Amino acid sequence: MSEEQTLPNWDMSNIYPSLESEEFKQANENFTKQVEDLQQFITENKISPDIPLTEKDPAKLAEIINEFIVQLNELLNLGGTIQSYIYSFISTDSFNQTAAKALSTMQPVLIKAQQLGDVLFKGWVAQIGSQIDDVIAQDEVLQDHSFFLKETIEQSKFMMSAKEEELAGELSISGMRAWNKLQNDITSQLKWTLKNDKDEEVEWPLTAIINLRNHESETMRRRGFEAEQAAWKTVEVPLAAAMNGIKGSQGVLFKRRGREDAVHHSIDRARIDRETLEAMLFAMKNSFPLFRKYFKAKAKRLGKESLPWWDIFAPMGKTSRIFTYPEAQKFVLENFGKFSEELAEFANTAFMKNWIDVGPREGKGAGAFCMGIPATKESRILLNFEGNLDWVFTLAHELGHGYHNYCIYGADRSEINGDTPMTLAETASIMCETIVTNAAIKMAVNKDEELAILETALIGDSQVIVDIYSRYLFETEVFNRREKAELSADELNEIMEWAQAETYGDGLDENYRQKYMWTWKPHYYFPDLAFYNYPYTFGLLFGTGLYNIYEERGDEFVKDYNTLLSSTGLGTAADLAAGFGIDLRSPEFWEGSINVIGKRIDRYINL
Ligand SMILES: [Zn+2]
Repeated sequence: MSEEQTLPNWDMSNIYPSLESEEFKQANENFTKQVEDLQQFITENKISPDIPLTEKDPAKLAEIINEFIVQLNELLNLGGTIQSYIYSFISTDSFNQTAAKALSTMQPVLIKAQQLGDVLFKGWVAQIGSQIDDVIAQDEVLQDHSFFLKETIEQSKFMMSAKEEELAGELSISGMRAWNKLQNDITSQLKWTLKNDKDEEVEWPLTAIINLRNHESETMRRRGFEAEQAAWKTVEVPLAAAMNGIKGSQGVLFKRRGREDAVHHSIDRARIDRETLEAMLFAMKNSFPLFRKYFKAKAKRLGKESLPWWDIFAPMGKTSRIFTYPEAQKFVLENFGKFSEELAEFANTAFMKNWIDVGPREGKGAGAFCMGIPATKESRILLNFEGNLDWVFTLAHELGHGYHNYCIYGADRSEINGDTPMTLAETASIMCETIVTNAAIKMAVNKDEELAILETALIGDSQVIVDIYSRYLFETEVFNRREKAELSADELNEIMEWAQAETYGDGLDENYRQKYMWTWKPHYYFPDLAFYNYPYTFGLLFGTGLYNIYEERGDEFVKDYNTLLSSTGLGTAADLAAGFGIDLRSPEFWEGSINVIGKRIDRYINL
């Protein structure tokens, strides 16, 4: 054995002993049985949008809904646990055939379960309509789930008939899902030859070429950019076809389901309203001059007049600081402890009980994530820890997600009531990341290190605000034009360049924008959800805004904050924020968050 200390893998043994164990087999059988039972219950009680509701007695209706909710929660609890367990193997060992098989066996059962809730119950409960308040008043479980019930009824307005929904679902396999797969296949299989940093001609996958944007050497960054232009050109026709297929189908379905416009479905899913979105976009737009100052300062540091696309992600300064894993743990614990004992204790539990799969290894997936284990009310975190400061921030970020789960579990929320929309899912993670980032900036030993930390933070901030706004403009324009006619690859390029000009403005060199951003961003091609990106901006600015409040109110903030985290599945974002005295519909709140970033930009410029 080498003396090098080994990084811990996560411990899943308290969930099930193994994928082959009797306990795991039994859990899967139970899950299938639960879905069958729910199916039977639904049939017996004629729960279907196609069968007119004859039962009018609120007490009887409450009884049926109570039973449905209880069964659905049990099913989500067990299904979620089994899924997380299987995923713990798939994400750390892509060669594991047993895990792959377990997942594919489970999938049809999951799809069936989803159909029972999303189509049959939703369409049926909609028939109760305005009588729902009388029904809810009958029963405690219903009162506990009143937000879910009302939202379900509200959203049922945007369904076609059960038959049409069924047809749309079946056709999506050879329609939108096929276009989505085509885009994924083309972009993941495309290769291109370019010189590496030793000037040898090498064939690269496009994914690796995109990553060259972070390279220390400008030569390599520029080579990557130029290779991208040439490579995407060769596949722009099929990719434009995929974009037309997806956006065309989505447009038709939105219309047939009675949606007001393309963004309507996405704001409902995000549980925000139009005024909130408008207020946020308004504040984002007002911040562009600030970000352009940052881009110009960065260009100047690189000895240029203005910034070409390939320099946006260029690293700056130097962090020589290397963290061993125990040092990273200590740093996180210390700074979490300054925020609250409870947060530090949670992180300590995650460390002591080995909830984190820390190091990279063969067959393990890239990146980082956190997942909940409903049955044991725990979380598990995957990292690919490499000892630089970035990974310390990521550790804090993912622990934030775990702490969010901890608050939801601690308040004993049902699975339905713990379901958090994307907009609010990043609240705790951003808060924890901010705590640790600020601490790191404070302890920077020299200007070079401070610059490196600030640069990392500002690259992220400018992506989330400036680039995401450009994606929002792009997607809106694509929907508008697609409604009238098909778009050529040239038109898509032109719209992308326009969207970048509107947002980056003179912060970027106008000769070197990136018109092909639409080709590889998978979000534009998701069949079930358009406008995937702005909820991230919401998450960043909402989390940052809460940090502002924390700095004002200090310790007394923490209790309210825990309550907020435990309630993120229980209301709209605006209602939950109002509990903090925050008005999401006024640009002021959003501007407050942007000011925090503005201070970073000032410091960056003066450094
Ligand atoms: Zn996150």
